Amino acid sequence: MSEGKELKEKLFNVKKNGWENQSDETLTEIFKFADEYMYYLNSSKTEKEIVSNSKEILIKNGFIDIEQKETLEAGDKVFYVNHGRSLYAAVIGEEPRTNGMRIIAAHGDSPRIDLKQNPFYEDSEIAMLKTHYYGGIKKYQWTNIPLSMHGTVVKPNGERIEISIGENDIDPVFTISDLLPHLAAEQMERKLKDGVQGEDLNILMGSIPYSDDTVTERVKLNVLDLLNQKYGITEVDFISSEIEFVPAFKARSLGLDYSMVGAYGQDDKVCCYTALRGLLNIETPKKTAVCVLTDKEEVGFNGVTGMCTLRFEDFIHEMLDKKSENTPSALQRTFTKSKAISADVDAGYDPNYPSAFERNNTSYIGKGITIVKYTGSRGKSGASEAPSEMVAELRRIYENAGVKYQACELGKVDKGGGGTIALTLANRGMEVVDSGVPVIGMHSPYEITSKYDVYAAYKGYEAFYRG
Ligand code: MN
Ligand code: MN
Repeated sequence: MSEGKELKEKLFNVKKNGWENQSDETLTEIFKFADEYMYYLNSSKTEKEIVSNSKEILIKNGFIDIEQKETLEAGDKVFYVNHGRSLYAAVIGEEPRTNGMRIIAAHGDSPRIDLKQNPFYEDSEIAMLKTHYYGGIKKYQWTNIPLSMHGTVVKPNGERIEISIGENDIDPVFTISDLLPHLAAEQMERKLKDGVQGEDLNILMGSIPYSDDTVTERVKLNVLDLLNQKYGITEVDFISSEIEFVPAFKARSLGLDYSMVGAYGQDDKVCCYTALRGLLNIETPKKTAVCVLTDKEEVGFNGVTGMCTLRFEDFIHEMLDKKSENTPSALQRTFTKSKAISADVDAGYDPNYPSAFERNNTSYIGKGITIVKYTGSRGKSGASEAPSEMVAELRRIYENAGVKYQACELGKVDKGGGGTIALTLANRGMEVVDSGVPVIGMHSPYEITSKYDVYAAYKGYEAFYRG
C-alpha cells in the first residue's frame, strides 16, 4: 500500500457497501432474517396487527404480561399492551432502574387510507366508501392498486369485531379509481399535489343491487347486508370503528439478486421488527432493556397510544413498583439516566431523483444502519438533536459490535424535512438519537429497503440493549 493510500484509509470516512466481503455464513443469515421479516410484514399491516403479532412473539419467547407479575427480578421479561395499539416490552437488568434504562422506540403505524365515520354511499349503482387519509401521502400513488380492509368495529355493548379482507388470495380486494388518461386533460394540467384530491379517494365496494326493487340505494343495501351477515354490524356501527385500507401486496424480495425488500409499511415496521428481534436475544442485561412499539407517529405522536402518552410513564412506574424501587423522584431519575434510540427510517438516496439529496449527507441503501443526529425542517426546526456525547456512545456500541453505520440527514437543506418521536423521549430528560434503516420511496404503498441494512439494524439494536 502506498503512503498516500494508507493515510487516506486512516483519515477518510468512506461509506462502504455492506455486501462487500461478507462470508457465506453471514449472507445466509442476512437472507434468512429477511425472510422472517417479510413473513412478519405480511401479517402485520396495521398498528394493531403489529401489536398482536409482536405480543405473540414475545409470549413464545418467555415474556409475561406485567399485570401478571407481583414482583420483578433481574432477568424477568415483561410486556405492557396499551389499548392494543402500542406495546412496551422489557428485560429487567441487574442495576436498579434509577441507573437508567436502554430504550429503543419504533412506531407501528404507517400512512394509509382510513374510513370516515359515515363512509357508505351509492353513486350510479356502485357502492362507495368515503375515506380520510392518514399520514403524509402522495395521494395519486394510492389509486388503482389493490387495497385490503383491516380494522375493528366496537359495539356499544363492548363487543369487538375484527375485520381483515383482502390478504388471502381467495379474498376480494378493493381499490380507488383514477381517471383514464383519455379524459384527464384537465386533471393533467393540475399541480401533482392536486391531481388526485383528498375527497377523490373513494373506495369501490360493490356493484350488485339488493334483490328487492321497491327500495332505493339497493347496491349500498346489498353491501351492508353482506357485512351484516358476516360480522353482525350495521351502518351506525362504523361510527365506533377504525377501518384502515392498506396495500394488499405481499412483501417480496426485490431485484434480480434478491438484495432488497419491497413492501408496504416498512416505515416503521422495519424498526419494530428489528428492535423486537434484538430484544429477544437479551438475557439479564446490566441496565433494563426496553423496546417500545408506539402508535400515532405519522400524525404527530399524540393521543393515548402515541409516544407522548403518560401510559409509558405508567409502565415505568409499574416496573419500579414491582421491584420495590419506587420513590417520588424515581421516575424522573430513571428517565434522566436513560439512553434511547428513536428507531425510525431515513430517506435513502434515490437514483431517480438525485437532485433531492446531498450526496455527502444522505443515507444509501446497503451501507448500514443510519445515525441521524438531528431531524427537522428549515433551520433544524422541531429537532431535538442528539448531544455529540450520545452519538459518540452509539458509535462505540456499533463499532464494538462490528455494525456498519452511516451518518445522514433527510435530503437537501430546505427541500422539506420531517421529524420523529426522538423529541418526545428527549423532552422526558433522556439522551436520544435517531438510528434506523434507509428507505427508498418512503410513505409510498411499496417501500424499498436493503436486506443488508435490515440485518445491520437488528445487530445494532441488540448491541445497544447490551450497552
Ligand atoms: Mn417513521
Ligand atoms: Mn413516516
